[in-house]
Amino acid sequence: KTEPVARLIGKPEAKALYRPRNKFSHKGTYGHALLVGGSYGKMGSICLSGTAALRSGAGMLTFYVPACGYEILQTALPEAMVLTDVHEKTLSKIEFDLDPSVIGFGVGVGTSKSTQQAFEQLLKKNKKPMVIDADGINILSKNKEFLKLLPEGTVLTPHPGELKRLIGEWKDDFDKLEKARQLAREHNLIMVIKGAYTFTVTSEEIYINNSGNPGMATAGSGDVLTGIIASLISQGYEPLVAAVLGVYLHGKAGDLAAENLSYEGTIAGDIAAHAGPAILDLF
Ligand code: AMP
Ligand code: MG
Repeated sequence: KTEPVARLIGKPEAKALYRPRNKFSHKGTYGHALLVGGSYGKMGSICLSGTAALRSGAGMLTFYVPACGYEILQTALPEAMVLTDVHEKTLSKIEFDLDPSVIGFGVGVGTSKSTQQAFEQLLKKNKKPMVIDADGINILSKNKEFLKLLPEGTVLTPHPGELKRLIGEWKDDFDKLEKARQLAREHNLIMVIKGAYTFTVTSEEIYINNSGNPGMATAGSGDVLTGIIASLISQGYEPLVAAVLGVYLHGKAGDLAAENLSYEGTIAGDIAAHAGPAILDLF
């Protein structure tokens, strides 16, 4: 059994991962992110992910949501395109005629039987890199056999509750990281273990993030992170780099938002709005 290498990620490390834009690039250069999720009464979550994805540089963004999300998302985020499921309130069949650079799945999606089946069908045909969060992770926990269907380098972003459902109880933080690392190794995953210090875990490495603050303990904060990581993959960053840099920028965006708004006054939309300033802060 090998010991993982631990690395602390702060501004210099994030800056080294960041790639500046080429003058002659166009939106195609920065990829097309597809975000699949949402359900009746939870369309805000995927809207936050999408806002964060565009605010952190995705070239194009399409949502795939239940039909009730159509007007909500076209109104809330006119920069995005919207495809809808035949089903009104939850996803029942995920079929789209586009070639995304990355697929983000799970925020606000619920865990109904038909949504679980739709996710399985998507996994069976999909070859694109994926970021899976929230109920996407909960569906994996209910159907451990789906883990085998995930493309190599899939990024999972569990909060402590989602992680517990996925890997079971842990004794202490060392045990938690070791269990996460085993899952990462078994299925070739990148595990983003969210918390006050977020750990990004692969089979061999642990990256410890040092940006972020308790103002980020607010509804929708994690949905913003999902969007940022998907966006970076869409722009061509390797999934591991996208996870590590995305976690840093998300935390820094929260720090910059709280400078003006206080911890208490920061809401998830403010974190998304500060993704750009977080990139500027690298320099
Ligand atoms: P979620 O529970 O899915 O909304 O995710 C919460 C997000 O906020 C994660 O990215 C956490 O790392 C971040 N977060 C929550 N509480 C704190 C905290 N006390 N310090 C730093 N980041 C936090
Ligand atoms: Mg969440």
